[in-house]
Parts: sequence; structure tokens; C-alpha cells
Amino acid sequence: MAEALSLAAALDWARQRIDAMEARVLLCHVAAVSHATLKGFGERTLAAPVWQRFEALVRRRAQGEPVAYLTGTREFYSRSFHVGCGVLIPRPETEGLVAAALDLAAGREGLRVLDLGTGSGVVAVTLALELGVRAAAVMAVDRSATALGYATINAGRLGARIAFRESDWYARLAGLSFDLIVANPPYVADADPHLAHGDLRYEPIQALASGGDGLDAIRIIVDGAGEHLRDGAALLLEHGYDQAPAVRRLMARAGFQGVRSLPDLAGIERITLGRWLVDAAMGGS
Ligand code: GLN
Repeated sequence: MAEALSLAAALDWARQRIDAMEARVLLCHVAAVSHATLKGFGERTLAAPVWQRFEALVRRRAQGEPVAYLTGTREFYSRSFHVGCGVLIPRPETEGLVAAALDLAAGREGLRVLDLGTGSGVVAVTLALELGVRAAAVMAVDRSATALGYATINAGRLGARIAFRESDWYARLAGLSFDLIVANPPYVADADPHLAHGDLRYEPIQALASGGDGLDAIRIIVDGAGEHLRDGAALLLEHGYDQAPAVRRLMARAGFQGVRSLPDLAGIERITLGRWLVDAAMGGS
């Protein structure tokens, strides 16, 4: 299609190729209009370059590229985060990890918080902003420099104060200890067929898959946590829909107390947490 088109005609064209909601999201993005404008002023004409950009994005989406990578943004906890190729797209279930961490932090001050495998930084940035600097000092690590690039941009744009460090889990955190460690690590089994479908094909595999049972990263995080947790601190992990019993076992075996899992909005146990009590972990009373 060469000549200029109206918003409505562009949308019609796109809806024959991709999901209708996604077509609206992409059109609002390239035309820089709101959903209300799209709905109420469909006769408005798209400038040729805008139409060309829209056409290209729709074709890429039709080939499978994630909408979040095409628009460069994804909402998380009511804020807009910059994402793109090379970083995991934030998932709504991870908001549950943030909510659980906020519950644990409620009413406390001076907490040292660590986000392991921060990716685009959604968990660290949201915790820093929701808790505020009096309540928490947040550190976030990732072994991927690309991920840290996105996270740094997001922290800057949203005004979150975070100490970022390039580190493979705890590798470069010697001597540091925390009151709260959170992580949304990779937890999909290497052979899981989902990895070959949908958006996951385009996301960094190292942010998704973690060994034969998907628990390799979680084992490293759980087993290494003791050295970095202060007395009474908590570890909070997101995991797969069927991994809660295994994660509880790993945490209990590592010496965590009060290990329990929390359901997500669909009632699936998605998060497991435990407390680190130095006496108990050392085999004391
Ligand atoms: N929940 C994601 C998925 O199954 C996986 C994210 C992760 O491994 N942390 O698509």
C-alpha cells in the first residue's frame, strides 16, 4: 500500500494480519496517538512515513516478534519500562514477587535489598520507588551487560536510586549482606517445548531456561544465599507453576525457616520464601 491511509483503514489492514488489540497498540505507538483518538478520530490520515513504520512493525509482528520489543516498552506495576532485544519481557506474575517483597518490607527502615538477575530492572526499580530511600537501599545485579543497560535506563527514567553491578549471581558480591534477597531467575526446563513458541523464541534463553529441571539457577541462589543474608533476613523467589514443592525442599534443606509458597492471581504457587535465622542455620537452638 503506497498512498496515505486513515487510522481506521490502517487498523483494518493490520487486523487481517495480527491480533486486533496488538494492532491498536502498535498503531498508537507509531502514530503517537491515544487509544481514545484511535477510536474517536479514525478518519485522521497517517503521514506516509508513519504508515510505512506501522506496516513494517505489523509485518514483523506477523513473523512473531514480541510486541514489547517492537514498541520498546512494557508496563509493570503501573509504570512503563524500556525493554528490547536481549532482555526478558516483564511478566504480570512477577508483580506478585514485588507485592510479596513489599509486604515483608512494610513498616521497616534501612533495609538492604538485593535483586538477583534484574533483567530490565522491573523488580529492583519498583521496589526502590515503592519503598523509598529511607526504607530501602536497593542493589541489583545481572551477568548480562545488555540487561544492565536497560535496567540503568529504566532506573534513570523513573528516578529510582539503585546500585547496579555486573555479577553472575553472587560472584561479585563478596562481603555484602542483605535483609531481603529477591529474584525472578530463569526456571524453565531446557527441553520445555514452550521455549520454541511465541515471544519466548525471541527472548534471551539465559533469562528463561535453567538446566534439565529448570532449577539450576534456583539451586545456586538458594545454596549461596546464607553467606549474604543477615540474621532474620528473607529470600523470595519466583518459580515455575509446578516447582513450588521442589523449591520449598531446596530452601528447607539449605537451612531456611518458615518456608512457604504464595499463590498468584490464578491460585498457582509462584513464589516461595523463607527466613534466614543464623542460629537455626548453624544448627543452634
Ligand atoms: N514465566 C516465564 C515464562 O514461562 C519465565 C520467566 C522466567 O524464567 N523467569 O514465560
